[in-house]
Amino acid sequence: MKKKEIQVEDIKHAIELKLQTLFGRNLKNASKSQLYKAVATALRDDIMKSWAYSKEKVLEENGKELYYLSMEFLMGRFFHNNLTNLMLEEKAEIACNELEIDLKEIQEREPDAGLGNGGLGRLAACFLDSLATLGLSGHGNGIRYEYGLFKQKIIDGYQVEMPDPWLEDGNVWEVAKPEEPEMVYFGGTVEKAIENGKLTILQKNCQCVKAIPYDVPIVGYRSNVINTLRLWGARALKPLDMGLFGKGQYVDALAEKELAEVISKVLYPEDNHEEGRHLRLKQQYFFISASVQSIVRKFKKIGNDIHDLHKKTVIHINDTHPTLAIPELMRILIDQEGLGWEEAWEITRQTFAYTNHTTLPEALEKWPEELIKQLLPRIYDIIDEINERFCRDLWERYPYQWDKISKMAIISYGEIHMAKLCIVGSFSINGVAQLHSEILKKDIFKDYYEIYPEKFTNITNGVTHRRFLLRANPNLAEAITEKIGDGWITDSFQLKELEASCRDIAFQEEVRKIRQKNKEELARYVLDKTQIKIDPHSIFDAQVKRLHEYKRQLLNVLHIMYLYNQLLDHPKDDMYPRTFIFAAKAAPGYHKAKLIIKLIHSVADKINNDKSIGDKLKLVFLENYRVSLAEKIIPASDISKQISTAGKEASGTGNMKFMLNGTLTVGTLDGANIEMHQQVGSENIFIFGATAEELEKERKEKNYQPYEIYQKNHGLKRVIDQLINGFIEPEHPDIFREIYQDLLYGYGGAADPYFILKDFESYCAVNKKAEGIYKKPESWWEKSIINIANAGYFSSDRTIEEYNEKIWRLKKHDF
Ligand SMILES: *Cc1c(COP(=O)(O)O)cnc(C)c1O
Repeated sequence: MKKKEIQVEDIKHAIELKLQTLFGRNLKNASKSQLYKAVATALRDDIMKSWAYSKEKVLEENGKELYYLSMEFLMGRFFHNNLTNLMLEEKAEIACNELEIDLKEIQEREPDAGLGNGGLGRLAACFLDSLATLGLSGHGNGIRYEYGLFKQKIIDGYQVEMPDPWLEDGNVWEVAKPEEPEMVYFGGTVEKAIENGKLTILQKNCQCVKAIPYDVPIVGYRSNVINTLRLWGARALKPLDMGLFGKGQYVDALAEKELAEVISKVLYPEDNHEEGRHLRLKQQYFFISASVQSIVRKFKKIGNDIHDLHKKTVIHINDTHPTLAIPELMRILIDQEGLGWEEAWEITRQTFAYTNHTTLPEALEKWPEELIKQLLPRIYDIIDEINERFCRDLWERYPYQWDKISKMAIISYGEIHMAKLCIVGSFSINGVAQLHSEILKKDIFKDYYEIYPEKFTNITNGVTHRRFLLRANPNLAEAITEKIGDGWITDSFQLKELEASCRDIAFQEEVRKIRQKNKEELARYVLDKTQIKIDPHSIFDAQVKRLHEYKRQLLNVLHIMYLYNQLLDHPKDDMYPRTFIFAAKAAPGYHKAKLIIKLIHSVADKINNDKSIGDKLKLVFLENYRVSLAEKIIPASDISKQISTAGKEASGTGNMKFMLNGTLTVGTLDGANIEMHQQVGSENIFIFGATAEELEKERKEKNYQPYEIYQKNHGLKRVIDQLINGFIEPEHPDIFREIYQDLLYGYGGAADPYFILKDFESYCAVNKKAEGIYKKPESWWEKSIINIANAGYFSSDRTIEEYNEKIWRLKKHDF
């Protein structure tokens, strides 16, 4: 049944009713948290009706469906996004005004769903938004971590990690379905028997964990299609072992329960890095087993034939973390559905598609054979068989080439290589930006590209321009709509029409004023959080992303020190006042990254407290970077720093969020920066530094001499010396010696492996150039508008359309 349109009075009534029925309160005596929940659940009731309707329609059509398996979904907040997508923003605002509820304030009550580390998890979240908006049936499957990514506190300049118990106060957006559990089995032994001439597989003495689905509705923009994000929570099979309990061993009994439930307890906080932990492997199998079982169960329940699974189902795996879904589907098809190997393999290979997200060697997943054998014996058997058959095929293609075959094998030197299993077990492999996909084909997956060229493709990442422009920068969105109409909201390429107005002085002035307002708001936030006063008329220059050596926050800091030295030498220099903004979490075990956070704080202390430079330079670090903080920083930034070592950042998506908001990029020719450059042209982006190709050559020749650069460039030498001469930390002159050592001499490995010294000079020059253009507003805002106008390509709507055309082939719903 289709629902009727909601009116302001309905919303007011629903909120008051919720306060009464949920909390026994009224508008006068409700707490802020109760108000948030009342407004959010009132909205949720409306979503629930549409969700039921959508599921019913999708079921009727019985078309192909996509399941997007991801260990991470960095969703951020739901409330405002759902309001926007349901077109209820205005009505809710009026209703709240009339009830004297501060809508903006109660929105801040919602905790971020921080179930991801960074780009990879946020990409999954953007995809869900675009899928629903485009009317495609695509559902997320992941883990309902009780603790999301740690909260970052800065104490004395050092990062301290705190738990993020985001569910503590309840989660209004999820629907628990304890009556629809899946059972996931670990350990035990595999017994094979022939029964009636048929092989039967029995898994014995396993430990069983219950997987409970928690479903979250995914509301698209003005779309009747509401998809499902299904997050699995782990429960002990039996609430308590009464046997042990009876013997008075209640502590042991509770411990066993804890052991099962620890699986979905906490998100591992490493970004672009794998630490082969036992519990991490359990998390992976737990969620993919539950997901694949429930996919098959639903498929059969509506009367489909299991032999047609691949025709109506596509399972996408986001990086290699869900790889075990491939042997898991084989297990279900063979052991439970009774299919033969050959047919099971055909179906499986035609069901899975895989996206690679990184070429960093430390991030490529490998698991010890022994660990898988012991924890997942049946899955091990299947992987072993897949590997055997693959090696036999290789032998036919490359007879006697033992080296090549053993290099390509899925299992080698006692380890299982997940990316190799993905390549062999799926019909599609894609990289996430042009350069990255080329590196996959030419370098890390070269041998596989030779035998499966048709499987490889590129699909450049995108972000939802609705959350990151329409929602995060409502005033800019309104100005755009006034100029070109609102078609851009669902057709991002229409932004191109703005280009005609790039020299329109009145429009430039409007865009500038909106930025100015956003900067003033961010300045208030900075003052509130850090007690540092920043000048909203200075250039806001932001680098916000995970802290990683390859992302080169260090290059940014060294340049800031260089500017500071310039001001010390020439206090009357006409340098345009500039505020550098950092926000970044480091993995808790990543020592160097944490030291760079300390360096940023030490340099900030020095610069921000030096009266002699007359407030020309400020440096702030905002703690606890997360989606809701990105939404505050990005619309207020003039310059976006995307300065990774060329060849290392697969795509980047932060770069796109800034571009959509008219922020100009200072960046290397890396990841999607290259495509941004193609879209806007050299005049409208500040490109600097060595190319990936040049650096590859440098590595091959092994002749890179950062020490020589240091000796030749006096400004650079001065800042590097300042790392250790007490200039920054007079009391503890040695704390940054490691960084100094790394840049000039290396620790074990090569010196300056991320080529910071090599790119320093061109980085200084490009920053100077950007500053010069900022001084000419008509030029700056022209470039800014050209950036917005050409950002349409970087909407995840375009990305999802491309996935659908090249890989998924789903039909759009039109109910
Ligand atoms: C977009 C986003 C990222 C990814 O940023 P990159 O600059 O591409 O690394 C990471 N974290 C959050 C919270 C984001 O919103």
